[in-house]
Amino acid sequence: MSDATLKFVEREQAYPSKRTTADRTGDFREIADRYATPAASEQAGRCSQCGVPYCSVHCPLHNHIPDWLRLTAEGRLREAYELSNATSTMPEICGRICPQDRLCEGNCVIEFSGHGAVTIGSVEKFITDKAWDEGWVEPLVAGTARGQSVGVIGAGPAGLSAAEYLRVMGYAVHVYDRHDRAGGLLTYGIPGFKLEKHVVMRRVERLAKGGIVFHHGFEVGRDATLDELRARHDAVLIATGVYRPRAIKAPGVGSAGVVDSLDFLIASNRKGFGDAVPEWDDGRLNAAGKHVVVIGGGDTAMDCVRTSVRQGAKSVKCLYRRDRANMPGSQREVGHAEEEGVEFVWLSAPDAFDAVADGRVSGVRATRMRLGAPDASGRRAPEPDPGSEFVLEADLVIKALGFDPEDLPAMFDAPELGVNRWGTLRVDNKSMMTSLEGVFAAGDIVRGASLVVWAIRDGRDVSERMHAWLKERAVQERAAA
Ligand code: FAD
Ligand code: SF4
Ligand code: SF4
Repeated sequence: MSDATLKFVEREQAYPSKRTTADRTGDFREIADRYATPAASEQAGRCSQCGVPYCSVHCPLHNHIPDWLRLTAEGRLREAYELSNATSTMPEICGRICPQDRLCEGNCVIEFSGHGAVTIGSVEKFITDKAWDEGWVEPLVAGTARGQSVGVIGAGPAGLSAAEYLRVMGYAVHVYDRHDRAGGLLTYGIPGFKLEKHVVMRRVERLAKGGIVFHHGFEVGRDATLDELRARHDAVLIATGVYRPRAIKAPGVGSAGVVDSLDFLIASNRKGFGDAVPEWDDGRLNAAGKHVVVIGGGDTAMDCVRTSVRQGAKSVKCLYRRDRANMPGSQREVGHAEEEGVEFVWLSAPDAFDAVADGRVSGVRATRMRLGAPDASGRRAPEPDPGSEFVLEADLVIKALGFDPEDLPAMFDAPELGVNRWGTLRVDNKSMMTSLEGVFAAGDIVRGASLVVWAIRDGRDVSERMHAWLKERAVQERAAA
């Protein structure tokens, strides 16, 4: 075993330092600095090189974590990058935004032994950022042309990952997305303080230079039916994510100033790109100078409260019907939000939205909740505590209750496209094919709202399944010719 590792007793866990709260809330840059090379090597050297690495087992990509940690500890950074790149299309993105406390780091044995997990995500981010700086990231090189083409609907992490692998296998790849930029939620959902946009755009540019053809502003359902795309390509991948916001049914919810989380986040991200965003400029989707109440307890809610702080809100409150221990969002993100001045109003649910004479929202009427027995998800179900009503002042209310799938069979004019009772696409577990021959699906549109790392994993898996199916089809076509 290398002398550079097993240092977890003598070396304390140290994440890259975070910028001060005052500094980071003044802009949309990432909040954590990047390791300097010696610090990355030192932290990687805390790994005990487990024979059965639980970190890898619990990483959805099964990254070769102990191996690239050892190479980093030994200063062999280019090899570390190449190994981490071998299992992931976006290691520096996962290093930034995976909930590591629930995945790799949360299952590190050093954590269980009380020494603090190896800082896997920060090291992963460091080695790939370093590779970009040093020019070690190779251009995408297409495989020998196979004479078959693939259409990918959706340029999020699932679609982009599949596109990359399929291009390397030699397919002509066309990616269709209704937005004007690729990246899906990496580009327009997740704010820059978690993931700076140049990190996403350099990945997209690499794919475009490698011959993947992007059709921006192309909405399947509006600009073509699914059948038309099937006629254009030998196989089609649906990777459209989930975008139907869950609604709140309460009086006054239609008041001006009660907005959906993704509208708010997209406007903010567009502004960051320097786009013209009239709804931001006229204040409809801008928290500056307002009392903001965000409703929800997931990661989207955390992104909304922290974006509001950066836009200069007067006050930011997060209303959530369960308590801190039972919220779906990452505890790390809640900690960041608290540091930045967000007030959490736990165990509270909205009853109604008050509005002033011109129809603008002025307050949220809410009731305190108490936790009852666990529900189907295993979390304790909240129930109202009678007589505990209260009012929060609000001139911007952001609804962040999660997302369901859109009605794809109707949108795509493809009633035979099978969905399950949640509206996500039904796929065969083995082939990842939908009910339509040659149409595959991956990412959130199959899993429901999930994580970037799972979308990348699905993109990787579906590319292999599509390759197998396309090869078989080519054989059949040759035999029939
Ligand atoms: P998406 O990223 O949603 O991409 C789907 C793409 O399909 C979009 O570009 C969309 O424009 C396009 N599309 C949809 N319909 C059509 C159509 N009809 N025609 C053409 N194009 C279409 N995960 C994490 O791991 N860490 C985080 O910190 C994190 N933060 C998040 C914050 C927010 C605000 C949100 C909403 C989600 C967050 N997630 C996070 C979840 C993560 O972003 C998703 O799980 C992931 O992006 C899903 O990838 P996908 O490729 O399946 O879909
Ligand atoms: Fe950890 Fe995510 Fe990287 Fe896997 S991809 S090693 S879970 S940060
Ligand atoms: Fe290293 Fe922790 Fe993974 Fe073990 S579980 S190999 S100590 S990172």
